[in-house]
Amino acid sequence: MAEVRLEGVTKYYGRKKAVENVSFLCKEGEFVSILGPTGAGKTTILKLIAGIEEVTAGQVFFNGRDITHLPPQERNVSMAFETYNLYPHMSVYDNIAFPLRAPRWGLKLSPAEERQKVEEITGFLGIKELLERLPQQLSGGQKQRVSLARALVRRAEVYLLDEPIAHLDARLKFTTRSLLKEFAEKYGATIIYVTHDYREALALSDRVIVLGRGRIEQEGTPKEIYYSPASDFVGRLVGEPPMNLLDGEVEEKGGAYWVHLGGETKVRVPETLVPSLKKAVYTEKGREGVRLGIRSEFVQVERHPIAEYSFPLTVYAVVREAENVLLTFLVRDNTFLYARVERGRLPDCKVGEKLWVGFDPDNLFFFPRTVKLKS
Ligand code: ATP
Repeated sequence: MAEVRLEGVTKYYGRKKAVENVSFLCKEGEFVSILGPTGAGKTTILKLIAGIEEVTAGQVFFNGRDITHLPPQERNVSMAFETYNLYPHMSVYDNIAFPLRAPRWGLKLSPAEERQKVEEITGFLGIKELLERLPQQLSGGQKQRVSLARALVRRAEVYLLDEPIAHLDARLKFTTRSLLKEFAEKYGATIIYVTHDYREALALSDRVIVLGRGRIEQEGTPKEIYYSPASDFVGRLVGEPPMNLLDGEVEEKGGAYWVHLGGETKVRVPETLVPSLKKAVYTEKGREGVRLGIRSEFVQVERHPIAEYSFPLTVYAVVREAENVLLTFLVRDNTFLYARVERGRLPDCKVGEKLWVGFDPDNLFFFPRTVKLKS
């Protein structure tokens, strides 16, 4: 297994910049996800590590060795693509066995040894019954699992998995996710996993790298990414519903800071958060504004005022979930606030009811504005 390090990697396709000054370390045996929206540059990073694309600037290291200009066949990586890339004229068995037969790895397995390896990985992924079929006789989800089996059948230094379960249904996604985790632990595999689905990234990874427009927005453990987003971009990308992001006007009164969100709604800024508020403040048309971020589960809702930090809002929508109730409040025109409360905490809560809303100060953030909010 290898440790993978990128140092100041930039990639242009012609004049289009796809990846900009990206540096990160994936330790030996680590499961790192690259999470980002479409077009963020995730696949490009995998291709640069595999050597399928040449870097424009920067370096790639495997175990401290500079492999930036090494051809792909001399890098011991195994890759699964979202688009499967199966050989159409070969059976599933031959597709999966293909990497075991490549002369460059010098495995020289006997037919029995080869079959044992193919059967082991297909048994693991639950696709053993497909071995004699041709790719055209498979569903999208089956093709995807065959492609994944082909990537995992050989012990490589690094596994590069590009949206490897995107085309599976919800149940299979869940089981395959668990199997991948088991594979990573069993073989101590170094895995770099690309996804646009934050649930996959958080559930699978030791660390997550959040990518936006070719640049790293944040790097951290799943917990850090979820609970301490570094920017409004990360807050919006992760979570269902995404983090509440509200722009407001800042007011100082006798040393205390408030953020006006419109109408009667104003939020008292806890003293501990004043430094982060000051860092995030912007000036527009002579007024000071700030973007506030809070996850729905940290919006407190009561039928009575909550200490000195709450404000009244009217319920706009109520969605009952298995264990919680998701309440929507209209803060001002086109600006909604989501609050997730445990079922039973506010019995018979209805649209139109006025409730008291507060923000848990330990989970309140102020961000510089970097993303455009829909209005
Ligand atoms: P997705 O989730 O949609 O696969 P991604 O995050 O993997 O997106 P990339 O495929 O790495 O993003 O693409 C990054 C940017 O580079 C995009 O704007 C894309 O259009 C562009 N791009 C990718 N490959 C090429 C290419 N071969 N030639 C020109 N531009 C490309």
